[in-house]
Amino acid sequence: MKIARITVWQKDLPLAAPYWLSGGRLKFERLDSTFVRIDTDDDLMGWGEGCPWGNTYLPAFGGGTRAALDLLAPLLIGHDPREIEALNRRMDVALPGHPYAKSPLDMALWDLFGQSAGLPLYALFGGAEGETVALNSSISTGTPDAMVARIEAARAAGYRTHSAKVGGDDPALDIARIEAVEAVRRDDEAVTYDVNRAWTPALAIQVMNAVSAGGWFEQPCETLDQCLHVRRRTRQPIMLDECLHRFQDHLEAWKAGACEGVKVKPNRLGGLTRARQVRDFGVAVGWRMHIEDVGGTVLADTAALHLALSTAPENRLASWLCHPHLADDPAPGQGARNRNGRAALPATPGLGVVPDADWLGDAVAAYH
Ligand code: MG
Repeated sequence: MKIARITVWQKDLPLAAPYWLSGGRLKFERLDSTFVRIDTDDDLMGWGEGCPWGNTYLPAFGGGTRAALDLLAPLLIGHDPREIEALNRRMDVALPGHPYAKSPLDMALWDLFGQSAGLPLYALFGGAEGETVALNSSISTGTPDAMVARIEAARAAGYRTHSAKVGGDDPALDIARIEAVEAVRRDDEAVTYDVNRAWTPALAIQVMNAVSAGGWFEQPCETLDQCLHVRRRTRQPIMLDECLHRFQDHLEAWKAGACEGVKVKPNRLGGLTRARQVRDFGVAVGWRMHIEDVGGTVLADTAALHLALSTAPENRLASWLCHPHLADDPAPGQGARNRNGRAALPATPGLGVVPDADWLGDAVAAYH
């Protein structure tokens, strides 16, 4: 089996409603997503999606994905798509870094590997651990009352784990947000307060030591060292996200004792291959992990949730789905969908999601 052709599409994905992170510092209204299809010489088609969460969340953006694909895609033509490790090394030699641009290609390679093996991705990643994956909501930053209203709407949709976005330069407002959410949190609910690197260490220590919440605080500050400083002066467990780009970053976080959990996101790490390495490391050291993608349609969501489903329950926290935030859907009815706070994965070979050709429209590039 050889890779014969790689086709690339770009789609703007409007959010159904504007979304604020980091205490309102960062606003999002649309995502720029890149879709790839890898065709083989025996007529298999593998799909991948790379969708950074806008331009301000991570050092990644849609235009960068497509520019890098112009260099990376030709490197894969003529090779066996099942040689995933070797093809990742080939991409890394040609273009160090730029993990977000490699992610859609790596995802499509896994889709092909699964189809050729006749197995769903979760079987290739270690086998299903349970029937479904618990889902978590994502609660945009707002006034305390607005955030409580969003929690209640998410609860009505079945979510029992919530990621509440806080952070800003007014500690009294953040304390009010957190206490308002804690006041309505039910015993069967968990809330992670995701700061998205907005606090200075001093502000993080002030807020975290003032609130009653004893659960997870995520990425309180910009850097690993700042988060470690906060870790040593507060009592709540720390989840790290935006400061983890390479395997080495996870190793350093573990050795420093900086966190008890991490977010594992294929597009941030360079694809499913790298995300699986981090997931396995996290299991080995006893981390708890939210396994989900950075953004995208049901295609990217489903790929990440295959990895989540194959992760031991004691190491797996709930997964977020991006696609419910979007106005458009390229594959209605397919893939991982919210069913009262949980999602099942397709048992069909490969990734199990095929975007609609009319929805994708004209390709922006093709390599053969
Ligand atoms: Mg986060």
